Amino acid sequence: MSDRLPGFSTLAVHAGAQPDPTTGARATPIYQTTSFVFNDADHAASLFGLQAFGNIYTRIGNPTNAVLEERVAALEGGTAALAVASGHAAQVVVLQQLMQPGDEFIAARKLYGGSINQFTHAFKSFGWNVVWADPDDISSFERAVTPRTKAIFIESIANPAGSITDIEAISTVTRKAGVPLIVDNTLASPYLIRPIDHGADIVVHSLTKFLGGHGNSLGGIIVDAGTFDWSTGGKYPMLSEPRPEYHGIRLQETFGNFAFAIACRVLGLRDLGPALSPFNAFMILTGIETLPLRMQKQCDNAKAVAEFLAGHPAVASVSYAGLASDKYNQLARKYAPKGAGAVFTFSLKGGYDAGVNLVSKLQLFSHLANVGDTRSLVIHPASTTHSQLDDAAKIKSGAGPDVVRLSIGIEDKEDLIADLEQALGA
Ligand SMILES: *Cc1c(COP(=O)(O)O)cnc(C)c1O
Repeated sequence: MSDRLPGFSTLAVHAGAQPDPTTGARATPIYQTTSFVFNDADHAASLFGLQAFGNIYTRIGNPTNAVLEERVAALEGGTAALAVASGHAAQVVVLQQLMQPGDEFIAARKLYGGSINQFTHAFKSFGWNVVWADPDDISSFERAVTPRTKAIFIESIANPAGSITDIEAISTVTRKAGVPLIVDNTLASPYLIRPIDHGADIVVHSLTKFLGGHGNSLGGIIVDAGTFDWSTGGKYPMLSEPRPEYHGIRLQETFGNFAFAIACRVLGLRDLGPALSPFNAFMILTGIETLPLRMQKQCDNAKAVAEFLAGHPAVASVSYAGLASDKYNQLARKYAPKGAGAVFTFSLKGGYDAGVNLVSKLQLFSHLANVGDTRSLVIHPASTTHSQLDDAAKIKSGAGPDVVRLSIGIEDKEDLIADLEQALGA
């Protein structure tokens, strides 16, 4: 082997995996077991005390999941990762390491509808308070910082309109505030954007979407960039203070630049319990092998579909950062030069009724609540994913009544355009 560093497509196929040492199996086996036999009593004790790494019980770690963790950490340029049962579970586990009751975190207003619900309602019952900021106005993040702020949360490409967030500008706010920047990179995937290269300290994903890529398995992952110093100011006691559950060890002192990933595993996943099934890890790993091919085709198709819609008389506007006329096009050129993603919105001159009508007439597009599938998908956010928001909040989050969201798949673009044409014209 030469000493050149492997490229992205090579890592997507190989990172973390090797032929199975006992059988020679080339694809990563599904280690469908709850538990793992200890060598002897000392080995068992050292695993439980975090003095040695190894498998104990699948709620804490599993060899199939470990390959997935290593692969995504490599693709994102992080030090370590932790796979969990869903994207939402990843968000809970991350914030549990950072937040005490009464603490705050700042989140960009343009987010996946489920995240808006989780942050507003579920987290309130933990005493975690979300403060909203406008990703198009960086000073709104600055103004929202208080002594109780523990993190800032943004999406790299934001749901539902596919707008591009200025990660570097927001990372200067987090540096100044002394808090970590968490980036949900679900809609971009590391093929388009690697947030750690732009100042993110923690990356989260719904693996359910582009990384798994086939609409068949839920999963989530947390990637530790290894960049944040958790010891400053006693702000993050889970990482800097002695842990009573582990004989008083301090995680940052013991695990250095992957302490956050360890905390998520041994304090978050172990105690909250949202473990990823090894079967799902296998499905998602298989999906990741073709991530670069799928993502490029989906971006190219999305651009062609967006251009078609922009020229259609029934369409009022198209929000796709890959269009030269789009307000996020400059940011797209900077952060996502290979393509501006495959999820975007457009609005219809006929308003809410026209949106509902279009969705019912489309045949090739599936009407459902997911994105990042090989299949093309459509949804009317105002009546579904964002229906819990009031009208003003819908508009602010990019899900006004006349807006339709598409997630473009890997089909032939001519067929996608023909389906839209018949549905718009009819
Ligand atoms: C789907 C999604 C989530 C939640 O992920 P689940 O796997 O459904 O729990 C979070 N963020 C974004 C951007 C998503 O698209």
